[in-house]
Amino acid sequence: MTHGAPGTGPRGDGTRVIQAGSPDPRIGDPLAAGPVLAAPYHLTGAAGPDRVYGRMTNPTWEAFERAVGELEGGETVVFSSGMAAVTGLFLAILRAGDVLVLPSDGYYEARALAREHLSPLGIEVREVPTAGPHGGALTGARLVLLETPANPGLDVCDIAAVAATAHARGALVAVDNTTATPLGQRPLELGADFSLASDTKALSGHSDLLLGHVSAADPELAARVRTWRQRSGSIPGPFETWLALRSLGTLDLRLARQAENALAVARFLLDRPEVTGVRYPGLPGDPAHALASAQMRRFGGVVSCVLPDAAFVDRALAASALFTAATSFGGLHSTVDRRAQWGGDAVAEGFVRISLGCEDTADLVADLAVALEAAGTV
Ligand SMILES: *Cc1c(COP(=O)(O)O)cnc(C)c1O
Repeated sequence: MTHGAPGTGPRGDGTRVIQAGSPDPRIGDPLAAGPVLAAPYHLTGAAGPDRVYGRMTNPTWEAFERAVGELEGGETVVFSSGMAAVTGLFLAILRAGDVLVLPSDGYYEARALAREHLSPLGIEVREVPTAGPHGGALTGARLVLLETPANPGLDVCDIAAVAATAHARGALVAVDNTTATPLGQRPLELGADFSLASDTKALSGHSDLLLGHVSAADPELAARVRTWRQRSGSIPGPFETWLALRSLGTLDLRLARQAENALAVARFLLDRPEVTGVRYPGLPGDPAHALASAQMRRFGGVVSCVLPDAAFVDRALAASALFTAATSFGGLHSTVDRRAQWGGDAVAEGFVRISLGCEDTADLVADLAVALEAAGTV
């Protein structure tokens, strides 16, 4: 396999994320371009107008879309948030009478959106656990949304297998790639029609912006999503998009540290008597490990487990110097989210989603040991 110039092999992820975000060199241009803020564009000039109005396109979006599109292997449309991307996909594709299949254990806002806003419009919504079986639910479906690894329970499903069955029955397949990121998993290569994500999480990774994207292998499908964005106006701010583009260059480094931390913390938690139900796809022995190893390129930085109860979680967080209570995940800082407090997921009171940041592994494990000891001493 040859990529790029003769004599160069396929490039590594660290090179790809830096190259993907870089403009072509032109003498006198900045090495790294800044954000372009624009509502209308000039219509007078020598060339015909390829940019008219800021709801339609923006040079900073175009740069981000090229970069993420290169990583996902498809044409990409950036949105103002992950949920705007999910909504854009649903409303670009689904019509009254269609059937939508989505995970019963995936991101709860997507389920709520489907139940509260799509069902009343005459779209049938079917929920299937990420681990399957998907079989019967795919019959008659127009769009199948998978989320793997699923947030927050981290179950995994076989993208290629579900895509093959769904395609045979005439359905399109989308994968929510938020937890994996395009460096962790390439859904379009595995046969999905769409890969979408909340770029609020690991892809931008600094806990300071909301953003999302939809990538499609087929440019015609991408064009439908892009048109929906233009009509609905669910467009990102160029400044946030630029911050995300700026963060993309360190994605390989951040994910490497996060995954190293996640594996160490998952191993540590497995040995603790007060901790049950440890899940991490990168853990040998995890129910999803074999499948995750076959379809993922890295396992990400999120671990989930069950602590005795809500009060235990509170005490552990109070005693921790490095883990902060916060929702979201994928940032530089390690955080813990007790999911039952939000009411959207079917999880135990003590279930926590732990997002491992980029701190030193030994510091995190030592801090967690102190926190669990303190929480157990009432
Ligand atoms: C956070 C999240 C979303 C929604 O993204 P926002 O950027 O918060 O709108 C969608 N899917 C998954 C898996 C998520 O974790």
